[in-house]
Amino acid sequence: MTAGSPQTLERIREVPAYRVFHVRVLRKLRLSPNFVRITFGGEDLLDFADNGFDQRIKMMFPLPGGGFTPVGDGADWYQRWRALPAELRNPIRTYTVRAVRPERHELDVDFVLHGETGPASRWATHAVPGDPVIVVGPNAIHPGPVGGQEWAPPAGATNLLLAGDETAVPAVAAIAESLSGDARARVLLEVPETADVLALDVRPGVEITWLPRKGARHGELLVPAVRDALGELVVPDAGADASLEDIDVDAEILWEVPQATGRDGLYAWLAGEAGVIRSLRRHLVQDAGIDRSSVAFMGYWRLGRAETG
Ligand SMILES: Cc1cc2nc3c(=O)[nH]c(=O)nc-3n(C[C@H](O)[C@H](O)[C@H](O)COP(=O)(O)OP(=O)(O)OC[C@H]3O[C@@H](n4cnc5c(N)ncnc54)[C@H](O)[C@@H]3O)c2cc1C
Repeated sequence: MTAGSPQTLERIREVPAYRVFHVRVLRKLRLSPNFVRITFGGEDLLDFADNGFDQRIKMMFPLPGGGFTPVGDGADWYQRWRALPAELRNPIRTYTVRAVRPERHELDVDFVLHGETGPASRWATHAVPGDPVIVVGPNAIHPGPVGGQEWAPPAGATNLLLAGDETAVPAVAAIAESLSGDARARVLLEVPETADVLALDVRPGVEITWLPRKGARHGELLVPAVRDALGELVVPDAGADASLEDIDVDAEILWEVPQATGRDGLYAWLAGEAGVIRSLRRHLVQDAGIDRSSVAFMGYWRLGRAETG
């Protein structure tokens, strides 16, 4: 069977790239005041694709009164969920695979604990071994690319810049720990407190700066730190298109990701609170003259607004 053969195309249609996994909490490890690592277990995870980098997943949490409204295990789970009355729809939020060990049927997700206002943070705060959740994640059986990853530096990238807030720490950690080659990498991570600085296992040439906010506003440390780092990393690209349409981060999702098409030199990956990422986008493209095809900008959450599934 060849990649584009009718049989392969038929199989790609039959075997979805993302599928439903039924899992339960196995262990909980408090990494720091604001991060908890929850290890999930379930036989299904044998077929969870281990793609690394910033692999995203959807997680479905119990209803306020407990329990899950069945949406089936098929590829139409989302349509079935959407068709439910609001009070029966289990909350869905987006998370990152911090690590997966399919042969041991285990999946690690690092949750930021930001209080009781959101169903995901609330659930992670109180979860105990045995609690069920539903994960929609990459399917190892799918014959084609599964998607759900945005990290895509061009082969000729010599300088890498990764920057984000605490919600991006799991993705940045997974990316930074798997960097090979000899590109220079600057990693800037804004976290709530000094005690949230985590130990990452990275190769020489990957330079990590943690920026504990200690009560400052989101982005107050990250934005100037990115600006300073660019001063060292970037030679402004005279041919770059600095025009930029504004994005209303309260009405649309800020998600602009090139797919390995950027120019050689700098590749940057930025994720976090959408208003902060919008400021960084303006700064990189309009002020620093960096070509947009060399930067992935991702609003991971929006201050004052719940994710809507
Ligand atoms: C691709 C992707 C990957 C992500 N990976 C991770 C991950 O691995 N770990 C992780 O913790 N988060 C991750 N996030 C962010 C996470 O999805 C959001 O923080 C989400 O809103 C949390 O849901 P919730 O139910 O706790 O809060 P919601 O119900 O969505 O929001 C309730 C309130 O809490 C606020 N809020 C939401 N998140 C935060 C926060 N972190 N700090 C302060 N206030 C907040 C909202 O503004 C809102 O006012 C990721 C997001 C994306 C898009």
